[in-house]
Amino acid sequence: MTDLLLLPGDGIGPEVTRQARRVAEVVAPDLAIEERLFGGCSYDEHGLPLTEETLAAAKAAKAVLMGAVGGQKWAGAPRDKRPEAGLLNLRAGMEVFANLRPALCFEALADASSLKRELVQGLDFMIVRELTGGIYFGSPRFIEELPEGGKRAVDTQVYTTAEIERVARVAFELARGRRNKVHSAEKSNVMDSGLLWREVVTDLHKREYADVELEHILADNAAMQIVKNPKQFDVMVTDNLFGDILSDAAAQLTGSLGMLPSAALGAPGKPGLYEPIHGSAPDIAGQNLANPLAAILSLEMALRWSLDRAEAADKVYAAVVRALEGGARTRDLGGALTTEQMGEAVLAAL
Ligand code: ATP
Ligand code: MG
Repeated sequence: MTDLLLLPGDGIGPEVTRQARRVAEVVAPDLAIEERLFGGCSYDEHGLPLTEETLAAAKAAKAVLMGAVGGQKWAGAPRDKRPEAGLLNLRAGMEVFANLRPALCFEALADASSLKRELVQGLDFMIVRELTGGIYFGSPRFIEELPEGGKRAVDTQVYTTAEIERVARVAFELARGRRNKVHSAEKSNVMDSGLLWREVVTDLHKREYADVELEHILADNAAMQIVKNPKQFDVMVTDNLFGDILSDAAAQLTGSLGMLPSAALGAPGKPGLYEPIHGSAPDIAGQNLANPLAAILSLEMALRWSLDRAEAADKVYAAVVRALEGGARTRDLGGALTTEQMGEAVLAAL
């Protein structure tokens, strides 16, 4: 029985997940770890980015830790066999409907942030993005030629009560373990799906989470507030499209893409999917330059939320903080450490 399934993937994926694996082997030496091909490398080997065996292994594991997938090499593959299609199928197959993306400011990096120190110092805010519904999945969707010339493109936003409620529940539960505050972002002023979103969140709050502070916020205002005063937020729950945009904006508050992990969770007891928010970074792949901290912090989230190893997770987090305080910096953080040396700095701090 596999505890942790590693899917290193393409580009810098294998380089950064190797460092996460080294950390896992130290903090949780008894974990059963398995590795499989996924993404472009799986397409090269099996003709598919995600084989049935790999999906079955992912569903049977307690947690899945992914590197990154994709790259120019597979841009010409049939659309349904591209690495990105494999990723959508993995998320759908694992039924991970809640995407947790922390925006975290490490004290040691507060000065390096693209924003003013007082704005981001101590920032610790979590966006919960609905991941398997909404406009990215709704039908009908098509592009058609119009008889009078030109074309027409249609996408459809669909949300059900059940879809909204289960992701809102994740946000409320999370908030209880944090600062007890949830912002729910939608556009109920102009969208019916936004109206339903607000109604369902309000209702769930009243029924089960009245102890948590709830505020509704329009998504455009949320974007402004994230840039203006991000420290007011604890947990923000929002739909797939707004969450995609707002979580990218929040991520940029704290500096490098190479620092930020993410988790995608399904129903309680089902395996979570953990991955750095960055892509496969073909421009630096194979050069031992990538920052492995996003992958290591993704492992930290996996230990905490799927593997029931909160103590090991605390150790990993503390080691990352200590390594940064000791001055460990890869190139993206303005330093000169290699991927491997950053991994070693974390291991040394452990
Ligand atoms: P995707 O479409 O797969 O999300 P992307 O276009 O968002 O990819 P990334 O692959 O995330 O792009 O890379 C964006 C930039 O950030 C690149 O210049 C890359 O080198 C840099 N980058 C990404 N991840 C890291 C990392 N872990 N360490 C250092 N630099 C990184
Ligand atoms: Mg990207």
